[in-house]
Amino acid sequence: MLHIVHHGDYVAPRPTSGSFVFDKYRLVMEAVREHAPRHAAYEPIAMDRAWIEAVHDADYVEEVLTATVPRHKERRIGFPVSAAIASRVCYTSGGTWLAARLALEHGYAANSAGGSHHALADTGAGYCVFNDLAIAANRLLAEGDARRILIVDLDVHQGDGTAVLLAGRSDIYTLSIHSERNFPTRKARSSRDIALPDAVGDDDYLAILDTALRDIFSSFAPDLLLYQAGVDPHVDDRLGRLALSDAGLEKRDRMVIRQARDRNIPVASALGGGYGQDHRAVALRHARSMIAMADEASRRDIIR
Ligand SMILES: [Zn+2]
Repeated sequence: MLHIVHHGDYVAPRPTSGSFVFDKYRLVMEAVREHAPRHAAYEPIAMDRAWIEAVHDADYVEEVLTATVPRHKERRIGFPVSAAIASRVCYTSGGTWLAARLALEHGYAANSAGGSHHALADTGAGYCVFNDLAIAANRLLAEGDARRILIVDLDVHQGDGTAVLLAGRSDIYTLSIHSERNFPTRKARSSRDIALPDAVGDDDYLAILDTALRDIFSSFAPDLLLYQAGVDPHVDDRLGRLALSDAGLEKRDRMVIRQARDRNIPVASALGGGYGQDHRAVALRHARSMIAMADEASRRDIIR
């Protein structure tokens, strides 16, 4: 059973400028309905402003919520922040938090958007407005839903915003495995960064991930894992520089779940990046990823 969080506002209208479109978030749910044998959909509530301001500067939050983000920040984000986008990012942040709460109950749950890992305290960047991963992690810890959170970011781009926003916290560990030569040009420092050269394929990637996860589980001992499961390390991705196959991506996702499951650690995934001219193919990649993780999680019940 795939427990998946979705809201109608995830699918914002096409922005008036820039090339980013939100079709993927509608197509992902269509692919889930078509391909997931069993799934349950949940609607998030918008994240409270106070929890957003616990991570982002109040002035920037005000700019987003009133759709008055200055042009230089909108250029960095990659699209204008309209009222629809403002609503969207409150729901996607609520969605990642809700997925984590559902994961505590069911072992694994997915947010069908989110993973906005480039967003910083005072600005968005790289198609990211609010950092749902940082907002959710901070709230889950503050409210006692978790004591130690591991954020595994396997999007092809470094999780620089997450790293900066959560730097110095002893109760959060950030792992980013990404393409060295890809955006962002200037990398931040995660708890652990693994920068890969171009065109790394399945076998090398999986061996690196396996070792990294084992190391971190033994040294950090999280009780909740947030997973930025971007599919842009795929060989056909328009913005990736790595070379994972469909089978490699599935093995990656199953490895994250299996290693967590073996240690009774619940996992919530956020959608992350995935780019291509064929939006349906990208959406299917994301849907397959979540379906595989739900299947892997169900192989043994997670008992907390
Ligand atoms: Zn990405």
